Amino acid sequence: MTAFSTLPLKPALLASVETLGYSEMTPIQAQSLPAMLEGRDVIAQAQTGSGKTAAFGLSLLQSLRVETIRLQALVLCPTRELADQVSKALRKLAANIPNVKLLTLCGGMPLGPQLASLTHDPHIVVGTPGRVQEHLKRGSLHGGGIKVLVLDEADRMLDMGFSEAIDDIVGRIAKHHQTLLFSATYPDDIREVSRRVQRNPVEVIVEAPADGKPAIEQQFIDVEPARKLDALAQLLTGERGQHALVFCNMRRDVDAVAEELDARGYSALALHGDMEQRDRDEVLVQFANRSCAVLIATDVAARGLDITALPLVISYDVAHDPDTHTHRIGRTGRAGQTGLAITLCTPRELPKAENIEQVLGRPLPWRPLKLSPPRGKTLNLAPMKTLVIDAGRQDKLRPGDILGALTGDAGLKADDVGKIDVFATRAYVAITRSLANRALERLRAGKIKGRNLRVRTLA
Ligand code: AMP
Repeated sequence: MTAFSTLPLKPALLASVETLGYSEMTPIQAQSLPAMLEGRDVIAQAQTGSGKTAAFGLSLLQSLRVETIRLQALVLCPTRELADQVSKALRKLAANIPNVKLLTLCGGMPLGPQLASLTHDPHIVVGTPGRVQEHLKRGSLHGGGIKVLVLDEADRMLDMGFSEAIDDIVGRIAKHHQTLLFSATYPDDIREVSRRVQRNPVEVIVEAPADGKPAIEQQFIDVEPARKLDALAQLLTGERGQHALVFCNMRRDVDAVAEELDARGYSALALHGDMEQRDRDEVLVQFANRSCAVLIATDVAARGLDITALPLVISYDVAHDPDTHTHRIGRTGRAGQTGLAITLCTPRELPKAENIEQVLGRPLPWRPLKLSPPRGKTLNLAPMKTLVIDAGRQDKLRPGDILGALTGDAGLKADDVGKIDVFATRAYVAITRSLANRALERLRAGKIKGRNLRVRTLA
């Protein structure tokens, strides 16, 4: 039985699950939720896309007592992006439970506003370990009432050096709590953390789908270094290239590949750790709202990126180690759709491919690629284009105001308006590419929520 209704969940949570359109549990949910709802500690091997957020989210919301104004659940994530996504998912799951207070606390953000919003303890905190530790130390956050601790993407947190911070946090919160640990990989140090912070955990590993067909198809392509870019460009011309993630091992290659693809007529953007937070946010917004077809990223920058159902992931370079490779390919083939993960491999990179083969335990699926002669400029533009409005939540601007202005005065059909993201001081809206300039002119000429706001397109 995999219906959510077989679980002892509050009606408010079953209602959210229904609103979200989850007709049945994903394997990770079916295997972990019964134990989590009994209060057991759980260690689960789960990739992004497996439905792990809803699994721990439902469990922690089930045990939440809203009338008790104390911090009751703490979710630790490796990056701000992931923390934001987890918060969003939890808010949706909690939509039918009135007055749940949830706060996201991440590093890289000023401390002042966080302190101001902590005058009363929230029920749930989602955050990065360093910043959460700081608040617990300062006494601006109180861990004495915590019933559930979630370590999300625990392997990534260890990679990023958060091991000590996590131990310190565990020492500062209520002694008796449930610990739910999620990790895409199970290296020894994860088992070590589990031994330190968990009691007799239920272990959940989701096997490959029962029908024997892997949800991810892997292909390895042998290519000469000088033809790598041509190979990449060719692989990106198909339907799947409309929403693809490309990994490079090095930051400078990320920029070079993005520039070259852009010059060849692709809507491609780079994402790496050297970028300002605002630029990173803008790139992520454009990739999620389909204004950017191809995102080229380093492994570090792609952590926490949560875009569902990516049809294609390409390793432009073979990953340095098999774990990183596993993480890369885990970005595709999600929620029931088969994804394609292609790895380009030059002769010099063969030893790294062999390492992957060893971990995989079967021969790598090599396939030939016949490079077609250059055809001049191929246009592979994303279907949407993003407009930026220089006003946001602080100006009380809501998605509905933007949609209203576009479909009202500006005369667009709702179908031509895509995702709307409202940040504190700016808002982004995706428009069908061919209509973007018209929408821009009309918005500039008219008003949004009765005001003249500055609007421009994102290149
Ligand atoms: P996650 O692994 O938490 O990043 O979730 C991946 C995606 O799967 C998210 O977009 C969820 O909304 C979606 N999802 C989670 N649970 C289910 C479910 N039972 N059925 C369908 N989609 C789901």
